[in-house]
Amino acid sequence: MKPIVIMGAMQQELAGLKQALQGLHTVTLGSRQVTTGTWHGHAVVLALSHIGKVAAATTATALIERFDVTEIVFTGVAGGLGAGVNVGDMVVATEFLQHDMDASPLFPQYEVPMYGRAHFPTDVRLTHSLHSAAQAILKNPAQWMDMDVLRELHVQSPQVHQGLVLSGDRFVATSAESKALLQQQPKAMAVEMEGAAVAQVCLDYGVPFAAVRTISDRADDSATTDFNRFIHEVASRYTSALMGTWLSQRTSG
Ligand code: SAH
Repeated sequence: MKPIVIMGAMQQELAGLKQALQGLHTVTLGSRQVTTGTWHGHAVVLALSHIGKVAAATTATALIERFDVTEIVFTGVAGGLGAGVNVGDMVVATEFLQHDMDASPLFPQYEVPMYGRAHFPTDVRLTHSLHSAAQAILKNPAQWMDMDVLRELHVQSPQVHQGLVLSGDRFVATSAESKALLQQQPKAMAVEMEGAAVAQVCLDYGVPFAAVRTISDRADDSATTDFNRFIHEVASRYTSALMGTWLSQRTSG
């Protein structure tokens, strides 16, 4: 059975997934240890990318070279950018852009040289299935999450969004920077540090790619506090609920 790869940047994001896998094996790829197993009848490879575009790109490349992967799904947390994209919401990426890519004036700002593009789209079918899983969870979050904890984080009625996600090697933690990013990319829903890199690798290898991020902060002046609380208290539950639901909804192994 060819495996589905599930990637995440941080240990806290993937912690619950490892517990859910059956028949665990550890495989070493460079300095990375990835876990193989099965979940809901699907072969799964679970990989911690570590943080940032280079770490994510090398992890994705090593996985594709080592395993006969059917697809890669990235899951984790991100800062909300778009109006109404709040802590506790989920954003399913339809495309990625590296907000810190700038080879101008040789190439237009944001364009990745030699690729002739700034935007890297996600796989339509996979994205659609992740969106359905996200909606199923947020329709009844109490089934998965401790609502008292969510209320403490000011999460009221979490929503699913879909659209452009920005990636860059920077934790965006000031209102000034998040406003500037949104001004330059008005359609951006969220900002994180890995997705665009994995999207680029997947385009190189023709591997279907999709990503879903839970909003841990608003990439503003209180981002660091919000991020730390979210990552410690709820991120892992969101990821487990989402990936478990998504895999259980899939028909073929
Ligand atoms: N303090 C952490 C570092 C976190 S970096 C540590 O010491 O380990 C933030 C991680 O969450 C990245 O993987 C990134 O993809 C995501 N993220 C969440 N909020 C973000 C924001 N506001 N800006 C950029 N990335 C964010």
